[in-house]
Amino acid sequence: MLTEGDLQAVVDLVLEKEQSRIKGHLINHITVRVKPVLRGKADPYSLLVVVPLWALARSDDYAIYYTIHEVAHILSPHRGHGSGYKEVEDLLLSFWEMSIKRKRAYPRTVSAKGDVVYTSPKKADPFSWNVRNCYDSLEKATQALHRYSSRYRFGMG
Ligand SMILES: [Zn+2]
Repeated sequence: MLTEGDLQAVVDLVLEKEQSRIKGHLINHITVRVKPVLRGKADPYSLLVVVPLWALARSDDYAIYYTIHEVAHILSPHRGHGSGYKEVEDLLLSFWEMSIKRKRAYPRTVSAKGDVVYTSPKKADPFSWNVRNCYDSLEKATQALHRYSSRYRFGMG
């Protein structure tokens, strides 16, 4: 399972690659924090992204996707998940040979090196609705994920 330090390394590399392709932006560091929260966020003022623990528990590929999703919010010229945002997100994901098929903003599938590594669960997904918001440690979140995935048989990516 990835750590906060691993995800920081992903972001550092993304910024390095992104700067070589898109001229003229001044962001050279974005800090990653992993926290026991329901939703991640990106703060363009403090240049901080927060990735929820449950995303790390789900899978490494999913955690990388999630981190890049948040970083794209800081680098995107537009707020929200519009076409400008999607272009940036697609570019950053391509640095990791990743791509997504979207529902609207969020992925129906995440692929890495051409293989699907995550498929969005149906809406009654107990993991989404119950598990991810109430675990204060990676260990507990992971145990819960395994419990739910064996019971409901949805993929862990
Ligand atoms: Zn978003």
